[in-house]
Amino acid sequence: EEEIPEDHPRYQDLLTRHRIENGVEKGITHLQGMHAEGRGSAFDYLLGEETIPSADAAERAAAAHLLLADHPVLSINGNVAALVPGEMADLADATGADLEVNLFNRTPERMQAIADHLREHGAEDVKGLEADARIPNLDHQRAKVDENGIYEADVVLVPLEDGDRAEALEEMGKTEIVIDLNPLSRSPQVADVPIVDNIIRAVPNMTDHARELADADEEMLREIVDEFDRERALETAEERIRNGF
Ligand code: ATP
Ligand code: MG
Repeated sequence: EEEIPEDHPRYQDLLTRHRIENGVEKGITHLQGMHAEGRGSAFDYLLGEETIPSADAAERAAAAHLLLADHPVLSINGNVAALVPGEMADLADATGADLEVNLFNRTPERMQAIADHLREHGAEDVKGLEADARIPNLDHQRAKVDENGIYEADVVLVPLEDGDRAEALEEMGKTEIVIDLNPLSRSPQVADVPIVDNIIRAVPNMTDHARELADADEEMLREIVDEFDRERALETAEERIRNGF
């Protein structure tokens, strides 16, 4: 990360790519994560590499959902762990959420490497290693979750999530928050709160909103949640990508 000059016009994008490469080298990120990163990068370029106002509103609504939840869980995969490990620990701290490792290509080595990496970045308790429950209607490996984690959660944040899992979680009746730069991907399409933004910007901004709302009463949090319009958020992001405004 030190090697990229900060005044480079594509600094953030290069930094992101570099983090994914490091993740692959460390055994945290699957090689397929590099392709996912490339797709995300293209959408971010078209969005102007900034948090658009509708994404900020989604991030605020997501923070309110997490604060209202009885049992919020933040799901971590290989790209999330490589890009924002400390930021996810901060968001967990600000909202009282649990962190749970959940992989598309699950191996015991990667599960352990990611849990260790998160702890090195300040995470206290990391779930996902028990895998003592299953998400219904998903194939065996991808269905594995912790019973006292994602399985029982009422609100889940699933960044950069695969469409099948996002749908299966939605079918379980959970309130689902998705971070995904492609507004047309199935995951944001099924989410209660689709956040079309780079996870690098989205997570710290959610934490800022959560800290700002820490003393808000339940009525105010409910109002923020109710005011959020998911269709509008998806449409606005798509317009921005297609038309540039
Ligand atoms: P599918 O149609 O199966 O959902 P996909 O192209 O969405 O395919 P996935 O691997 O399922 O591929 O999902 C990766 C998603 O994550 C992509 O939509 C990509 O745009 C998004 N993405 C990648 N990097 C980031 C990032 N840094 N921040 C936010 N979203 C990202
Ligand atoms: Mg997708």
